[in-house]
Amino acid sequence: MRGRHVWIGVALAAAAGACAGPETNQMQALAEQYVKLVLAVGQHDADYVDAFYGPPEWRTSTVKRPLAEIDAEAAQILEKLAGEPRDASDALEVLRYRYLTRQLEALRSRVAMLGGKKLTFDEESKALYDAVAPHHDATEFEGVLAELDRLLPGPGPLLDRYTRFRDAFVIPPARLDATFRAAIDACRRRTLAHVTLPPGESFTVEYVTNKSWSGYNWYQGNYRSLIQVNTDLPIFVDRAVDLACHEGYPGHHVYNALLEKTLVRDRGWPEFQVYPLFSPQSLIAEGTANFGIDVAFPPADRLKLEREVIFPAAGLDAEQTAHYYAVMGLVDRLSYAGNEAARRYIDGEIDAAGATAWLERYGLYSTVRAQQRVRFIDQYRSYVINYNLGKDMVARYIEARSGGDESKRWPAFTELLSSPRLPSGLAVGGK
Ligand SMILES: [Zn+2]
Repeated sequence: MRGRHVWIGVALAAAAGACAGPETNQMQALAEQYVKLVLAVGQHDADYVDAFYGPPEWRTSTVKRPLAEIDAEAAQILEKLAGEPRDASDALEVLRYRYLTRQLEALRSRVAMLGGKKLTFDEESKALYDAVAPHHDATEFEGVLAELDRLLPGPGPLLDRYTRFRDAFVIPPARLDATFRAAIDACRRRTLAHVTLPPGESFTVEYVTNKSWSGYNWYQGNYRSLIQVNTDLPIFVDRAVDLACHEGYPGHHVYNALLEKTLVRDRGWPEFQVYPLFSPQSLIAEGTANFGIDVAFPPADRLKLEREVIFPAAGLDAEQTAHYYAVMGLVDRLSYAGNEAARRYIDGEIDAAGATAWLERYGLYSTVRAQQRVRFIDQYRSYVINYNLGKDMVARYIEARSGGDESKRWPAFTELLSSPRLPSGLAVGGK
């Protein structure tokens, strides 16, 4: 996976003019030290560095630094950061200090985990993602399952009926690329109507196999992304717009491009040239990418797009659009069942077979998809909360700031995508 990356250095020299005084220079030095530390952790953990587009010479070392040494340096940076002066009148700068502090704390937690420290699922998500997902009892999903039972009548268990129903909405492989491109085009046009993107932004799409995830955005700097779509399993029609928005517009690609533009280039803040996956940044990244689907296409707009563009591109019966999305809307309400499976599994209450069975029973995953999800949980653990809890936290934050007015969502959403806000800062009235 790493070999696919193209590292593009971004000159910060132009932005460096914004730095004045020894205090600011000290902050720049600490930020640079943090980037190198993230890269050092990446030598122990192949999944840790999600993106890096700083000077290539910062990552040249092939020698693994001892974890204890990395941790001690992180503690030193934290100590110095606490004493750094900051301009309280500059809201973005206040966020910057808080953010870097929390990112470093998360780095120390990940280093401790790599050193063998055991955390519960909730302790881990708090330490790494600055949030804890609510607990749900299995019975809480029964009501949704009963509604689905009514919507999908017929003989046999609900999971079998749902699986058969959904199988009719697979995008034929020969139409996958055209369908996905139609979705990207729609998501991009919708986003461009509301967000000013840096000139030259673009991404490439690749189809890959043998991954635990369904899609991935590898941000490469210079406003470019590589988006990979996993074709291990058949791809359902709803994934076209979901993936195009989530990975592309206004999701990960836009988020990374706006961070690069506003924080790295305009402000000259080096720490945003690196994105450590197991950090609070991921809750904001996944939460905005998922809520971004609804921002771009509120339910009525989504149905229209699916009916008029996406279903025809996939060669599917457009008459079925409303029924399909009624079912999928209910299934979406089972997403927290996935967190419960992961929590119980990580906490050792159930084994892989138990987690698979839980996902089938309460999340309506087919066996093969449940097995893929358990592989994802093995690899990314409590990261799973970033998708649904992240989406809900971002949604509440944006709705509070836009007064529930759909047309006012975009400015609040764009501002969030362009700033270093922590998950704990998303609470209503949050800092
Ligand atoms: Zn994502």
